[in-house]
This record gives sequence, C-alpha cells and structure tokens, in this order.
Amino acid sequence: PNQNLFSALRAAFPADLDSIAVETDNGLAYSWRDLDRATAMVANLLQSLDIPKSQDGVPPRVAVQVEKSVEAMVLYLATLRAGFVFLPLNTAYQSAEIEYFIGNAEPAVVVCTGKNFAWVSQIAFQAGTRHVFTLDDDRSGSLLARAAHCSDRQTPVQKRADDLAAILYTSGTTGRSKGAMLSHGNLLSNAVMLKDYWGWVATGGSEGRGDVLIHALPIFHVHGLFVAIHGALLNGSKMLWHGKFDPKKVIADLPRATVFMGVPTLYVRMLAEPALTKQQAAHMRLFISGSAPLLLETFNEWRERTGHTILERYGMSETIMLTSNPYSADGRYQNQSERRGGTVGFPLPGVGVRVRDDAGQPVAEGEIGNIQVMGENVFSGYWRMPEKTAEEFTADGWFKTGDVGLQDARGYVTIVGRSKDLIISGGYNVYPAEIEGYLNDMPGVAESAIVGVPHPDFGEVGVAVVIAKPGARLDADGLVGALKAKLANFKIPKRCFIASELPRNTMGKVQKNLLRDQYKALFD
Ligand code: ATP
Ligand code: MG
Repeated sequence: PNQNLFSALRAAFPADLDSIAVETDNGLAYSWRDLDRATAMVANLLQSLDIPKSQDGVPPRVAVQVEKSVEAMVLYLATLRAGFVFLPLNTAYQSAEIEYFIGNAEPAVVVCTGKNFAWVSQIAFQAGTRHVFTLDDDRSGSLLARAAHCSDRQTPVQKRADDLAAILYTSGTTGRSKGAMLSHGNLLSNAVMLKDYWGWVATGGSEGRGDVLIHALPIFHVHGLFVAIHGALLNGSKMLWHGKFDPKKVIADLPRATVFMGVPTLYVRMLAEPALTKQQAAHMRLFISGSAPLLLETFNEWRERTGHTILERYGMSETIMLTSNPYSADGRYQNQSERRGGTVGFPLPGVGVRVRDDAGQPVAEGEIGNIQVMGENVFSGYWRMPEKTAEEFTADGWFKTGDVGLQDARGYVTIVGRSKDLIISGGYNVYPAEIEGYLNDMPGVAESAIVGVPHPDFGEVGVAVVIAKPGARLDADGLVGALKAKLANFKIPKRCFIASELPRNTMGKVQKNLLRDQYKALFD
C-alpha cells in the first residue's frame, strides 16, 4: 500500500466532504472537498514543472517562506501529494539566512511572498532554482494563479515509509540551524500514536461532538506544522485558523473549540487577559504546551483561572514528539494519571528514552544526564551534514537530543536544560535551570536566565539576567545574597543584571546564545 503521509491524512477526511474543515479568523470557510481539490491542483502544478524526478536520490525540494495562510498549508499537503519534499522557512529570516538555506537545500521550487519576490528570486536563481512562485496570505500570487489551470484530481505519488517527506530546519537556538530529514513514516507513525494518546474525539463521536482545534501557531515549525495540523487532519477535525496569535481572539474562540496547542509564551499572554475565565474555557477538552519549558507558575495559574491542567509535552524537529504528560487517567497507559507541572511526562508509546552520563554510561534513577532517544519517529540524519549526523547518534543507534534531564522512579521525565548551556565553573557542573528555578521563586521575579561566560580563574562563571514582575522593583545584590543562603558557592552567579525582557525567538525560546554573546567580555 501507499505509505504517502498525504494518503493517510486524506483517508481520514470525514464522509461528508462538504462539511467545514477550516474556518479562518477573517471569515473564510474551507470544506474538506476544498482541501482535497486545492491540494490536487497545486500537486498537479508541481508535477507539471520541468524538473528532474530526483537529484542525488532525493525528490525535488520545495522551499517555502510565506506568511501563514490556509493556502500555505495546502501547499504543504500538495507537496506531499506530489511526492516532493517540503522545506518550510521561518518568516523572520532575511537575505543572509535565505541565502544559506537555499544554497544548502538546493530546492527545485521556491515559494515566497510577493513583497520578497525581488530578492528571494535573485538568490534562488543564483542557486540554480528555476521555479520561483509567490503566495500571499490573501490568496493572491503566481502559485495559485498557475494552479487554477490544473486539474482538481490527482493520485498521490507512491511512497515508502522511509522516503523523505520534509526537511525541517531546527530553530537555531544553540547555533546554526540544521535540516532534519523526516520521512513519511516518521511523521505518520508519530501522528497516529498521538491521536490515540491524546484521546482525539472523532467528529460525530460518542459524546456527540468531535474535537475542534484552535490553530494559532506558525506553520514553519514542528509544533504548528506537524503536531497541530496532522492531529486535526488525521482525526477529521475542524480547525479554527488564526493567522496571527492574538490572545483576545483565541479566548473568544474557546467556547467553539476543544483543543488548543501553544508555546509557553502564548499561555502567559492569555493569562494577562481578564476575559480568560473558567466559564469561557468550559467547553475545552485539552490545552497542550511545548517547544520551550513551561514555568510551574504558569501551569498553576492556568489551573486556577480556567480549571484546566495544561498537558506539557516534549519534542524536537529531529524526532517530532518524544514524551508527554498523560491525557487520561483511565489506566490505558500503565498507571499514568497525573499531569505533573515542571515535567514533560512519560516516553510516548514506541519511543525509547534513556539518560546517560558524559561517558555514555547509564546514570542512577533520578540522576541528571544526557537524554537519548530511539523510535520510528526519529529522523534519519541532518541534510548534507554526514559528520554532524554521525556525531549525534551513539554506536548503538540512539539519538543524542542535546537536552539534559532526568527520569524519576515513576517514569516522569524532567528537562533541566541543554548540554550546550551547561556551565563548568572551577571544574563543577552548574545546571542553569536549577538556579533559575530558585530565582523564579523569589518575590517580584517574573523569570530569569543564567548563562556561562569565560572567566580567567574559574574557566566559566554564571551570569544571571532577571526580569521583574510588572510593578516590582528588584535589587540584583539582594537576589544574589538570597541565592547564597540556599546554594553552594560554585553555583552562585558572579554577576546579576535586571533586564526588561529575555531575548526570544518566534517559538518563545530564550536565546541564550545572544545573552552569552552580550556578556562574553565581562571578565576579560
Ligand atoms: P537548535 O537545535 O537549532 O539549537 P532547537 O533545538 O531550539 O534549535 P527545535 O527542534 O525547534 O530547535 O526545538 C527542540 C528543543 O526545544 C528541544 O531539544 C528542547 O530543548 C526544547 N523543548 C521542546 N519542548 C520542550 C519542553 N516541553 N520543555 C523544555 N524544553 C523543550
Ligand atoms: Mg535542537
């Protein structure tokens, strides 16, 4: 049978193709039939282009940097349908970054916004790409104009499970982005497992209603593109589509929805809205958070305000979803019941998780170490980086996530940071998350980040950057003094700065590399 991911998603469309699949925040409605026809037309357009079926054994890449729109999702699905490889790019990227990605990926097709066409097409043509289309978030542009002449029927191209479906560039939080090569099988197996694990309710299901997803995430990243879209489509669920995240608009949609997925900053911004109440959230079934650590305070505050316990999960571009707090307490998954704040829950079914020390040896239960993973969901390697790929897999085939954490006796996994953020001060390991946790608990502190910077005596020392809660006044020396009363001296940051905000990327991840850069000459 055809293992094309599109075929599996298409097979899950509800029988009534004229029912609504996507409703947008600017008043448009797309039926399932619309999605089917539009993806067929764009797939036919891609297949009609004069490009080789494969290059170095890999199908043509379609690189896409466009604003979020339903048509951009259609382009993703059409790319799968046509058997090409989808390569989404962060809309924030500028010319130097686009030059790197296009030069690195050598896409046969580039799709960009009308506004960027002049410079993107120049970069693309110089890299040998002959097909550059535009697509804007108002359904205009050459891609749809050309696709309008194509047939709305198309047979999905035959694929095997290990055929490449997408190259997803990592967020670049710790350095230059790497292209994670994901297969149809990686993506489908993860989506099928999550459908069950998170208890997606089919349309017309036993409760008499199906799930409705609020989609308010960007679609160039694993969270919005794969977890959210595959989740809804594979369940035949309607999506309420938000072009940009606006906390007021999401809160207004809660009574019509059942599932919401967000990065932690989205939850923080919604909590700042008085309209967020228990009553407003009463119709919801599930709030999911991931992509960055969810502060315990946000987790607790959300429960108080809405009556819902956020389900936190952990994943990455290279592996899609790895661990999750439990959805149900019905005992279907061992004795997993409670959603525990500050943890990322249990290894998902079919995912192996183990914790190793720097020498590759197992650590004792509950001890901190390097998280390694294995499973059908794990990518095959980094695009055109064979050495990097070899470095990041162990001899026995486990992928080194680069995350540091622990697993307790009940199986809960906790992430304490990234190995690249680990500080080695005077020969001692300092885990920034531990100290950040203490700082965040201090009165008036909203959040904090600790980074290691070079130091002539200690090799490296920690520097703290602390953000005050609105209206609070913080004293840097006082904070350091309070830490000294609680923690060993080698863990105490040598300097502490009060700042107005932490640098974050579009996924809400704190960019510690920028902080390290900013403070690197502090002890010169
Ligand atoms: P790069 O690999 O380029 O440095 P990145 O790792 O941030 O960037 P992504 O693949 O988008 O790129 O993000 C995966 C990472 O996000 C994980 O390795 C982990 O560090 C972090 N992450 C995801 N979910 C969670 C979570 N629930 N709690 C803490 N960290 C998380
Ligand atoms: Mg990473």
